[in-house]
Amino acid sequence: MGEVIAALKCTADVDSLGNEEELSKILMNETYLRGNAVCSKCQKTMTLRVKRGVLIWRCRDSKSRDCSTQSVRKGSFFEKSKLEIATILKLVVLHVKKASNKLIGEELKLSPNTVIDFRNFLRENALTFNRRNHQKIGGNMRVVQIDESAFHSRKYGRGTQRKELKWFFGGVCAETRQMFGEFVPDRSARTLLAVLVKNVELDTVVHSDDWTGYRKLGETFAKHEVVVHSKEFVSESGVHTNLIEAIWNVLKSPLKQARGTSDAMIDGYLAEGVMRYNSGDLYQEKLFDTLKLD
Ligand SMILES: [Zn+2]
Repeated sequence: MGEVIAALKCTADVDSLGNEEELSKILMNETYLRGNAVCSKCQKTMTLRVKRGVLIWRCRDSKSRDCSTQSVRKGSFFEKSKLEIATILKLVVLHVKKASNKLIGEELKLSPNTVIDFRNFLRENALTFNRRNHQKIGGNMRVVQIDESAFHSRKYGRGTQRKELKWFFGGVCAETRQMFGEFVPDRSARTLLAVLVKNVELDTVVHSDDWTGYRKLGETFAKHEVVVHSKEFVSESGVHTNLIEAIWNVLKSPLKQARGTSDAMIDGYLAEGVMRYNSGDLYQEKLFDTLKLD
């Protein structure tokens, strides 16, 4: 039988699974929470009990006294939040559906900051996911389209607001539809080449526009073909960068929403976009997987 949590389809599905205690037990079964605990004082195996509706670990000293107690969330993703388990699961489901912060706040009766903080936890997990599942794209003479793009980031300081152009760069394999994307400090040939070598196999046909920073890519990759955008969208030989440009268009609106937040958070927005694209229909399953114990 498949797992229950990763298959949640809507917030009502969460309610149908039961109360805090029942949800905690399901989370234990599916390795989101530890299935056992050892007393920190006497090293004895702890047992579960329910206290005011919440499942906790306890070490029973005598009939009237606990040696120690421990949260069942200890050491898990769920320890980051004081929200009820049901609320956390609903937040994840609504996040996957790209619900707005406003809608989630109203639906779950949470303050805007609580919703924003929680979604940032999920974006941090996307960063970790991408790092752990990093794989070069292309290879075998497949075509990889590359493109760089930018948006204006606003930085708020004390009474000042300064604009900063943030460049990001990435590529997508036209065949496997796997992509990479990251922020770059500049778009010099040297910077872009370093990112490409890290993310793209050398036996790849690279398609790009005629930006000067790409001029020497043919020396590193098997083949480099160019479409001159001032002249045409698709070259006579069929070279275009439409796939990667479409991806940037989808990704830019959440990135713009993140304006004014820290660089680390903006990284999270980009990472989430990359994880969503590469995971396709399996995004929710993979996102829940990042909430499990290591
Ligand atoms: Zn004990």
